[in-house]
Amino acid sequence: KQLDKVQFDTQAIQQLDSAHYLHPFTDHNALAARGARVMVKGDGIYLWDSDGHKILDAMSGLWCVNIGYGRTSMADAVYKQMQTLPFYNSFFNTTNLPAVQLAALLVDVSPPQFNHVFFTGSGSEANDTIVRMVRRYWELMGQSERHVIISRHNAYHGSTIAGVSLGGMAGMHAQGGPMVPGIVHIGQPSYLEGGSGMTPDEFGLVAAGWLEERIRELGPDNVAAFIGEPVQGAGGVIIPPPTYWPEIQRICDKYGILLIADEVICGFGRLGAWFGSTLLGIKPDLIAFAKGVTSGYIPLGGVLVGDRVAAVLTEKGGDFNHGFTYSGHPVACAAALENIRILRDEQLVEKVAQDTGPYLKQKFTALADHPLVGHADSCGFVAGLNLVRRKGATVHGNEVFDGDLGVGMICRGYMFERGIIMRAVGDRMIIAPPLVTTREQIDEMTGKIGAALDDTL
Ligand code: PLP
Repeated sequence: KQLDKVQFDTQAIQQLDSAHYLHPFTDHNALAARGARVMVKGDGIYLWDSDGHKILDAMSGLWCVNIGYGRTSMADAVYKQMQTLPFYNSFFNTTNLPAVQLAALLVDVSPPQFNHVFFTGSGSEANDTIVRMVRRYWELMGQSERHVIISRHNAYHGSTIAGVSLGGMAGMHAQGGPMVPGIVHIGQPSYLEGGSGMTPDEFGLVAAGWLEERIRELGPDNVAAFIGEPVQGAGGVIIPPPTYWPEIQRICDKYGILLIADEVICGFGRLGAWFGSTLLGIKPDLIAFAKGVTSGYIPLGGVLVGDRVAAVLTEKGGDFNHGFTYSGHPVACAAALENIRILRDEQLVEKVAQDTGPYLKQKFTALADHPLVGHADSCGFVAGLNLVRRKGATVHGNEVFDGDLGVGMICRGYMFERGIIMRAVGDRMIIAPPLVTTREQIDEMTGKIGAALDDTL
């Protein structure tokens, strides 16, 4: 409330910003010409900028503010921990109470094969850790030739060198190479792109079959693991057909390959389940998490280590020469404990599963009636729609826009003007709203999206 009275000099902030602050994933010159939008306050699912505009954040920041903005109990938890013990590490035979409590709580909310947690500061560090942990596992198993990790094109697994290498984003691989060796990519299970002439279920089996083909090409004895997001997020909310993940599991089991679920986005309720892998019917050996574990209030990530890997690391491993200053940071862990308490007490995951998730699906898929929308789908609280020039009789008959036109970015601009944040991945528009979003707010959201689509038309 006090912020309402503060007058911000937006231009002065923007000038300082462009003089000194190098933003991630940003063309600095283009931003300097435009001026960054200065966010100054958040409450529930809304943000306010320095000019007083109220904006509905349908992206939960970067897919992370699951409990919504402005939770004072989060601030209290962090304040209390900072006063008690702001930092101590868990290297060299020490530990700290919030980290221990959080590890036990994560084991409680995660699938049964998980009884161990390794903490990091971010999702990228979690995936970096996984690359080293998986290779260490196979070394300890006496099979160090098993070092290749298979990932997917267009996947996003982070911005550290191992994260970028695991990811399949061509634009990222093109900069700052060479990438980490021993990581290869197969196609993503995008029915819209690859499923012409097939049912979704048929396509799911075909797309999973690309994994088996690649394993055979590489030689099964050289393959360490397969990594994928249950539902691919930054790659464009790619919701795989129901046959895809069970077939991936079957193939991994057949060749003894470790299965890694990157749940940095999907974890902590995003899909209407604590973990997306449970929802999609797989039993991963390792899970990367971050974002929703603290709802982004403070940085924290980690790896849930399944019994198969943990047993080898703990019993045969000796020192695992890996860790970060902020592994198990007590303040971040205190924030996560409070965040998970909120998720549980307010039954936010159950609400998304049973009430608001199905309602979002109903309202969001109805947007496919708009002349500009070729297809719209959702899973829990992630959703995407495809902008098309002309609709065909089936989703594969749609006439798509010329990629150079940047229709997605144009549409995103109209969304911003209408006071809603939505993300554009090419011509696919995506949302991932806070899990606290109500039915009325879903109406408001889809109403604004419909109006911005009209503007774009
Ligand atoms: N993995 C996935 C699936 C992500 O979406 C992200 C971030 O968007 C990461 C990993 C990297 O996480 P961080 O940005 O916390 O390093």
